[in-house]
Amino acid sequence: MQHPLRTKPPAAYGWLRTIVVVAIALLASESFVVLGIVKPLRIEGSSMAPTLLGPHVKVVCPHCDHRFAVAADQVPEFRPYVCPDCREKFHATPTEVKLGQRMWVNRICLATGDIGRWDVVVFRCPERAGTLCIKRVLGLPGEHVDFSSGDLLINGQVLRKSLKEQMRLRQLVHREREELAAWHADDDGWHFADNAWQHGGEATRLAFQPAGGTVTDDLGINQTATRPTYAALDLMVTTNVHLAPGATVEFVAQLADGRVLTQTIDRPGETQVVWSLFDRQALLAVDGRVVWREPSASAWPDQPRLAVVATGIVKLGELQVWRDAYYHTRPVDRWPLAGVTLGPGGLFVVGDNVAISEDSRTWASHALRQELLIGVPLGELRDSRLDSPAASE
Ligand SMILES: [Zn+2]
Repeated sequence: MQHPLRTKPPAAYGWLRTIVVVAIALLASESFVVLGIVKPLRIEGSSMAPTLLGPHVKVVCPHCDHRFAVAADQVPEFRPYVCPDCREKFHATPTEVKLGQRMWVNRICLATGDIGRWDVVVFRCPERAGTLCIKRVLGLPGEHVDFSSGDLLINGQVLRKSLKEQMRLRQLVHREREELAAWHADDDGWHFADNAWQHGGEATRLAFQPAGGTVTDDLGINQTATRPTYAALDLMVTTNVHLAPGATVEFVAQLADGRVLTQTIDRPGETQVVWSLFDRQALLAVDGRVVWREPSASAWPDQPRLAVVATGIVKLGELQVWRDAYYHTRPVDRWPLAGVTLGPGGLFVVGDNVAISEDSRTWASHALRQELLIGVPLGELRDSRLDSPAASE
């Protein structure tokens, strides 16, 4: 069977990282509209946050100095803000509402059929006449789509993202810094200085203990939305590792069923490490190259507990924890128990702000028909990816 849309290697839209539906208003730029090649648009909702921001306010947590965006329609009036990093509550008076991001939408891809999984697409909303929406493509024509434990299932199998796709979809959970240390050392073999964890001597352990005890699928952008939250099962650690000769650092993930996933790095000098537990698979990448992966037949039984064990002189700079998009259908009463099978030409699209997005999960028809597509965003006007190497892909 020939599909009008074909899968292609995903484009790396540097600034594009996540999913779902956002209403968009057309900017008045008749010339481009007449040409029909690109459309200038502005994001008007938060269903694609944190990848694409609609109208929002910027807030700074007084407890940990974390700066985050809150959707303009999610600003708490009588309640305090909750910091997504340290989880402390605080009151603040934002100064101004910032407009949603602007972007160009490329229509040429529709003619060439170059739309693939994880691409962000702009289209006419199936259930809101006259409104444009923007979401991320999860399912392609002919595929069976379902979700389990936050993961995307395609034709009954968990969809495992490549390292590049993981980097595109990941959402920042915590950046280790002076103001907020979420990694805790067992003993004084470790100390935090110059924005890095530094170790010397015998093997000792540094464990990740997120504020509140668990990383959830919550986003700082949704301050007033009432909804269930889930423990994010798919975590990722990134760090710049500096090892003195003879030193080692072991990356550890402890699972609730007793399994322990570990990998050790012993190459002296500086390396960039990605330790990922996305999509029921443990993965280690060094300097952008995957050096080890171990799939799991089942979902993680609970949130993996992350730690590193260092021996000798070790420095961990830029230590950050991320999570994967957590897909679910819980608030959606239209979701069929058997999942959804897409017909020829149908796409399955979901917003990156999974918790609040209305999309293929909520529409009566589920599938996005191809004739409703407008195009694929090229980049934000102020931050054009046309200047970046990624644009040539
Ligand atoms: Zn905070």
